[in-house]
Amino acid sequence: MKYVLVSGGVVSGLGKGVMASSIGVVLKACGLRVTSIKIDPYLNTDAGTMSPFEHGEVFVLDDGGEVDLDLGNYERFLDVKLTRDNNITTGKIYQSVIDKERRGDYLGKTVQVVPHITDAIQEWIERVAMIPVDGKEGPADVCVIELGGTVGDIESMPFVEALRQLSYRVGPGNFCLVHVSLVPVVNVVGEQKTKPTQHSVRELRGLGLIPNILACRSTKPLEDNVKEKLSQFCHVPAESILTIYDVSNIWHIPLLLRDQKVHEAILKGLNLLGFAGNPELQEWTARAELQDKLSYPVRIAMVGKYTGLSDSYLSVLKALLHASVECSRKLMVEWVAATDLEDATAREDPDAFEAAWNVLKSADGILVPGGFGDRGVQGKILAAKYARENRIPYLGICLGMQIAVIEFSRSILGLHDANSTEFDPDTKNPCVIFMPEGSKTHMGGTMRLGSRRTYFHMADSVTAKLYGNVGYVDERHRHRYEVNPEMIDQLEQAGLSFVGKDESGKRMEIVELPGHPYFVGVQFHPEFKSRPGKPSAVFLGLIRAATNQPIFGMPHPSHNKIATRNSMSNGTAAPLKSFMNGKINGPLRTSLYSNGNGVHI
Ligand code: GLN
Repeated sequence: MKYVLVSGGVVSGLGKGVMASSIGVVLKACGLRVTSIKIDPYLNTDAGTMSPFEHGEVFVLDDGGEVDLDLGNYERFLDVKLTRDNNITTGKIYQSVIDKERRGDYLGKTVQVVPHITDAIQEWIERVAMIPVDGKEGPADVCVIELGGTVGDIESMPFVEALRQLSYRVGPGNFCLVHVSLVPVVNVVGEQKTKPTQHSVRELRGLGLIPNILACRSTKPLEDNVKEKLSQFCHVPAESILTIYDVSNIWHIPLLLRDQKVHEAILKGLNLLGFAGNPELQEWTARAELQDKLSYPVRIAMVGKYTGLSDSYLSVLKALLHASVECSRKLMVEWVAATDLEDATAREDPDAFEAAWNVLKSADGILVPGGFGDRGVQGKILAAKYARENRIPYLGICLGMQIAVIEFSRSILGLHDANSTEFDPDTKNPCVIFMPEGSKTHMGGTMRLGSRRTYFHMADSVTAKLYGNVGYVDERHRHRYEVNPEMIDQLEQAGLSFVGKDESGKRMEIVELPGHPYFVGVQFHPEFKSRPGKPSAVFLGLIRAATNQPIFGMPHPSHNKIATRNSMSNGTAAPLKSFMNGKINGPLRTSLYSNGNGVHI
């Protein structure tokens, strides 16, 4: 096994995850099989109990692992399926060592950070690196390891020491270290400053890790004299110093690395020169260029709770992007804080209320993503109601599906107090209930998690067709509540259609509203399996419906000329400029690295 370690220095949030995934893309394009491991030096066993607002979304894997969102980047970029063990946390390592100690496996020894924790880390890495993740047999050729945090942090020390030992043990031809650093431009003259990188490399060397490649984040390409200086002070050849400058979209990053010959430096470091081909990356190039060229917008209102941090819904945004690019549309995500749609806001902050409703009403499609807790639930119900009554394409994911059912029960069945027992435990009309197998006392890892099968019960339903009429689909789950099986007959008689169910036929997985242009709710999270070039079926349906393209089959040949739903209703295409200048979600429209907040885009 060959290892590529990606570490970070100076500041966090340099986009190490995207860098590491992009390196994987380039190596894969050289013909190598690539797997990856993300190290998170925090004490949580997994990301399942962490707030998306603080830490970004919780990514869910096929095996039910609730992991750091960077694993989503790896899965999307490398088109692989990772396991929960591909995300190492301090918590997991300590737990395994303490379990071993309790079993008496250390035979009376004093159990210490060095060597017991550091050994456990190395064993974990070497074991997990061998797990095939690309659907083929046998282990990958290269394992890209991303070390979270910044070198020098107290909490990452055991990992740094373990990786030092690993690099020494496997030898220089099997271990290549890419250090991601920052070259700030501080004064008006625009001088690129190397000192922070020098310090960070000194720190790295002091800990016994020697960088083969420096990847420097800067706004513009590094000047030659800056590279020379870095090379001299950091002992890294100038041709192995790369600049990761701001680009128009994330898909350019692998191309940027390839153009600076990252593969040559890595293959040299791994003694693989001559064994691997040249990375062509034609598909990536085409996709990156297409995304830049798209100008006709599709406006999707995201009605959620964590609208302040786009990382909270990262995979949903990615899935929307994949589907929009497939439909040749420029994605514009309009954030709507669900609470702003509620009556209380109308009283307390009428401007915010009006603005939120205006955004919702001008959207081509509405998406209510997954969520927990009762904040904003009423606003989400109002958004689903608006979509249903006004025939606006709607996609409800997990909580968004439950919301659609609550709204229908209230408005159509007339059950005014219909609710989920998550929000009102005493409701007389519990249309969404706690699942029998759940736990109310232990939050970590106790939901219905991971890949589960949904069987289509109606062959001619919209989603069955979108998924290609294959009878069933495997998607990832993360929920504690479900639609109340006892209310299904009542809901179906009133017009709602439960077209997808689990193997027992009792658990509802997909709901549709027949006769509506596109009204779909899914209990699973289709966003986790969407890939660039292979968009998720239900997201594709939403974007096609929102842009008046035929929902099934190939896009209309002149789709780029079709006006959006809004502009059609005005009779004229809305001027492009007004969309371009609008107040839109910053992150999706800015480059990967230009928002400076460490947001993964
Ligand atoms: N809170 C809901 C449940 O537990 C929805 C979860 C989600 O949207 N991921 O069922």
